[in-house]
Amino acid sequence: MSNVTTYLKTIYQTVSSLLICSPLLVSCSDFNDSTNEVSFAADIDDQGDVQIIYTSPEDESHEEIYEIFQETEEFDFLAEELNEAIALPRDISVRFEECDEENAFYDPETVEISMCYELIQKYKEIFADDAESDDEYVTEVIDAALFTFYHELGHALVDQLELPITGSEEDAVDELAAIILLEEQGE
Ligand SMILES: [Zn+2]
Repeated sequence: MSNVTTYLKTIYQTVSSLLICSPLLVSCSDFNDSTNEVSFAADIDDQGDVQIIYTSPEDESHEEIYEIFQETEEFDFLAEELNEAIALPRDISVRFEECDEENAFYDPETVEISMCYELIQKYKEIFADDAESDDEYVTEVIDAALFTFYHELGHALVDQLELPITGSEEDAVDELAAIILLEEQGE
């Protein structure tokens, strides 16, 4: 997991440059004037953690996802790294659960990210044909889930850190997810 550690050290810069100073966005000048791009992070007392919760599925077809995600501990390690790297004003729960739809979302009311088993099931179907080994298959499904997670985490950080984004939040958090994954793979 050392690759994760490395890129998470710069997650604030990534978040701030993408969400606040992205070429896609309009207002960039205030942040360019700042000598310390990540100064807003220092203002937040670290009173929260990213918490991963695996909800036992009722649908048997989701059982394998439930077990594999717990066994690999990919998201648990990631949460540890995130919690070392990011000061949060309160907990952000990440629930792997059944939602009756192929989706993932951040709810600002409850400060929870839902990662629906139905969506991960869909990733399983997409990657089932072309994976060359079981390991590769699992990795591809987890990577797809990671992209989705970073996207939703982007929404959560915009909300919880009150990042002043001025353009399309959907585009910004998509870029955030893509860049974090590309950096991870490049190391
Ligand atoms: Zn979104």
